[in-house]
Amino acid sequence: MVFELTILGSSSAMPTSQRYPSAHVLNAHERFFLIDCGEGTQIQIRKYNIKYGRIHHIFITHLHGDHVFGLYGMLSSMNLSGRESPLSIYAPAGFQNILISHLSDFDIHLNYEIDFVPLMGKDPSGIYEDKNISVVSFPLKHRVPTFGFLFREKERERNIIKEAISKYSIPVSEIHKIKKGSDFQTPDGKHIPNGEITIDPPEPRSFAYCSDTMYFKRLSSFVRNVDLLYHEATFASDNKELAKKTGHSTAEQAAITARDAGAGKLIIGHFSARYKDVSCLLEEARKIFPDTVAAEEGSVITV
Ligand SMILES: [Zn+2]
Ligand SMILES: [Zn+2]
Repeated sequence: MVFELTILGSSSAMPTSQRYPSAHVLNAHERFFLIDCGEGTQIQIRKYNIKYGRIHHIFITHLHGDHVFGLYGMLSSMNLSGRESPLSIYAPAGFQNILISHLSDFDIHLNYEIDFVPLMGKDPSGIYEDKNISVVSFPLKHRVPTFGFLFREKERERNIIKEAISKYSIPVSEIHKIKKGSDFQTPDGKHIPNGEITIDPPEPRSFAYCSDTMYFKRLSSFVRNVDLLYHEATFASDNKELAKKTGHSTAEQAAITARDAGAGKLIIGHFSARYKDVSCLLEEARKIFPDTVAAEEGSVITV
């Protein structure tokens, strides 16, 4: 099953000719989750052939423009293209009133419902669930209330071995129970342990998104053992003080969190416009966490 992230924007507050503000699309089992919606997101969505109509859930980490200014235009375009299906927006508490007021100011009357899910609290909290995926939000440390997201596949059923079905004449009525882990009893009373007729399902995969945030130790516990971690790396270590002052992280700090969390792979992004070339950030992170890549518009990373 597909579980992959497309980067739409990798810059921080100031876009450049090469980089757009934060926006990402996670395709999890053909469900499309938009994570942050900086200015230009709808253009990037078109450029990388992602269909608006397939986005039903938008996750906004915090109310800074580089994460949300693209939302008004996109909601308006969804309306113009005839959208009728509801849209869920997960954003810090209070955003509902701001958005409704702005849409009204801009004379935008949506033909579809928006379901607002307010993000709040100091502990991880489940905010979405379907049969394949669950999403948990957790607090980050920034200048305004900010939340990260952990997307995790659910445990899948055991895979039944095809040959075993014919070998033991397993009836269709038993297959569901066997996939759940039950043993099988043949009509002549022979006991067949589950391990003989099934194989383990693939391990559930996970993706976490952490932007914007300054370094704090507890963050690694929120994203423990995640397979793919996106972590902002606005600055290099020579700007460590500036990172702290502005509520951001250095590439080194992103890598420390990935290492301490036991992450499988790290993507760094949300780069300050001062870095025309981000290889210095990448090198800095790789010294601590070798399996690091730098976010780039259009790149697709499989979890
Ligand atoms: Zn930002
Ligand atoms: Zn911010």
